[in-house]
Amino acid sequence: MTNSDHINALELFDSPPVSSETFARSGEVLKANFGIDFDPVKFKALFLQIDNAGWTEERYRRTFDWFLRNKKFASWTIADFFEYGIEMGGYGWYLKKLHEGWKNTDFARWELPDGSVAYTAASADLPFKQWEPKAKTPIFDCRDCGKEFSSATDYHDHLPCKGET
Ligand SMILES: [Zn+2]
Repeated sequence: MTNSDHINALELFDSPPVSSETFARSGEVLKANFGIDFDPVKFKALFLQIDNAGWTEERYRRTFDWFLRNKKFASWTIADFFEYGIEMGGYGWYLKKLHEGWKNTDFARWELPDGSVAYTAASADLPFKQWEPKAKTPIFDCRDCGKEFSSATDYHDHLPCKGET
């Protein structure tokens, strides 16, 4: 992802493609949820669109959960399924959002499998590692007082330990 790009984070999940079994099961849930039978042509068309778009099982599962929570009426269309996404961007996107008034605490920072860092809204729940700024790693711990030192010189200056903290 380049700096200012933004993508749908749901596209990044490493998970198998959504299976026809999962899809058929969710069809039953939809029927029960809305209390009506749907045109099988509509279901087939939905699955084709999702399959063609290369959705993973994980993306479908999350989108379906979102759909159940947000779609109140039986008159859904295929486009409703494509409405859901988690906006994710690079550093340029982050700066743009800051400019729009987001605060630093409004973001979550992620370390993607390719090692790059990406940003989303803080509320996003994603299966990636949260990115932490690299802290200066202490190399020496004093065995007596537990104080940490980032260089051997500092540690030797501390010795012999007088127990100060
Ligand atoms: Zn010490």
